[in-house]
Amino acid sequence: MRYPLTVRNLLERSRTMFAHKEIVSRMPTGVVRHTYGQYYGRVSQLAHALTDLGVGRGDRVATFAWNHHRHLEAYFAVPCMGAVLHTVNIRLPAEHIIHILNHAEDKVLLVDEDLLPAILPLRDQFKTVEQIIVMADHPLTAENVVDYETLISGRPTTFAWPEDIDEWEPAGMCYTSATTGNPKAVLYAHRAIFLHSMLLCMADTLGLSESDTVLPVVPMFHVNAWGLPFAAVWMGTKQVLPGARPHPADIAQLLQDEKVTITAGVPTVWLGLLQVLEKGDYDLSALRAIACGGSAVPRALAEAYRKKLGLPILHAYGMTEAAPLTHVARLKSHLTILPPDAQQDIYDKQGLLVPGLEMKILDQAGNEVPWDGKTFGEVVMRGPWIAAEYYKDDRSSDTFYDGWYHTGDIGIVDQEGYLKLVDRAKDVIKSGGEWISSVDLENAIMAFPGVAEAAVIACPHTVWDERPLACVVPKADAKGALHKEAILEFLRNRFPHYWVPDDAVFLDELPKTGTGKFDKKVLRGKFQGHYMAG
Ligand code: AMP
Repeated sequence: MRYPLTVRNLLERSRTMFAHKEIVSRMPTGVVRHTYGQYYGRVSQLAHALTDLGVGRGDRVATFAWNHHRHLEAYFAVPCMGAVLHTVNIRLPAEHIIHILNHAEDKVLLVDEDLLPAILPLRDQFKTVEQIIVMADHPLTAENVVDYETLISGRPTTFAWPEDIDEWEPAGMCYTSATTGNPKAVLYAHRAIFLHSMLLCMADTLGLSESDTVLPVVPMFHVNAWGLPFAAVWMGTKQVLPGARPHPADIAQLLQDEKVTITAGVPTVWLGLLQVLEKGDYDLSALRAIACGGSAVPRALAEAYRKKLGLPILHAYGMTEAAPLTHVARLKSHLTILPPDAQQDIYDKQGLLVPGLEMKILDQAGNEVPWDGKTFGEVVMRGPWIAAEYYKDDRSSDTFYDGWYHTGDIGIVDQEGYLKLVDRAKDVIKSGGEWISSVDLENAIMAFPGVAEAAVIACPHTVWDERPLACVVPKADAKGALHKEAILEFLRNRFPHYWVPDDAVFLDELPKTGTGKFDKKVLRGKFQGHYMAG
């Protein structure tokens, strides 16, 4: 018998074996708890409701929501009934939201009540959306929308999930921002989600298991919260979902109260949490891993966590096109004898390629470069959960060619196989024909006392083409006390002279993208004349 790898298998396991385990959501009314048994019933009720609304095989159902149990119900009801879950990033500008809902041809849209004001004014421009369902905690009176609880209540708590779903059928889709133009869509087949979920449970990756309690701070609208909700349901792992606009203090409270063992998010989240942990007294002794990815982990951050909690940050790398996990920085057994600083050098890297994938590093001519710890090149990959194309997008062939996915990330691999990213191809600074890694400079600056955040960008320069500019955000208590000359001198002692930025500017905050990364495009625009004027 050929057994397809579909999402239904993940759902059934938590019902049959872990019906008493909990899903905890931080909601406006307080913390709400459901067991996996209740969860299964609600997932089935949602599937009945969506069926009655005319959602069928292959139809797209969009979500516009924070991390909570209702969003998690859609995560399984939609793919298990054969439809496609489209998680929309709530931080996108209105024109991108309109574009992607129309491009995906979403039939139904599930929206959080507090996010409704961002959606209703756009409604007339959604060409295919037939129904908006509001995920509210109380009955709703808004016009032309139905409320989730009224819609699902009283429906049967089991559903005859179709058993003929092919593993190559799409289960989900996410859009990723493009350098220019509209976001690009990636479809996830059932088999990709199945295999990627298995990956997250391997001891050499995140090692997610039934005995864990997982808190994904990473939003469920950002590459499926790195796939954690799927894997957690499969394993019967207790989940803690932090709800709308969680403040770092909310995260700290949930980590403590729910005895969370593994959490995941982008570096800015952990920067924020650190400030809370430094002020308050929280018992986070249950925590075994803080997975961090989406952008490079500043060394100072990793060291601060090691000092505060005795835990190294678990550095992970991936992208929308790869569902997303591709690398994890775990120490090989023979490297555990290294002194702490040398171990940290390894934890700082993006890590080892996960099992199942293939990777090459290519120079500008497309030739493979050696894994020698010094030669730069573009990271290209292929494997069972890596996309083969963007959905209905003629830009696909710029990224997917010769049978490989070209990441646009520039990296170095050492003799042990650890990948270190030095830049995005578009962020690398090209000065007088030499490449300068903005990431290395940023990491160094963020280790300077009094610095909260730093981004180094390329600014056009008449003589050198481009020169680096450091954009620095001082910590609240260091404002006015930080001097740019001290920072530049600090860099002069650590980098070749041509790497050192010609100037540094102080800002109140750095612009961030919808997924919490430093938005260097905005900074480059703002400072493009910095070295040209006069
Ligand atoms: P997204 O598809 O929005 O998740 O963005 C993926 C991109 O984020 C990658 O191609 C990298 O440029 C960047 N990225 C993700 N994880 C890391 C990491 N650990 N270190 C540095 N950059 C990262």
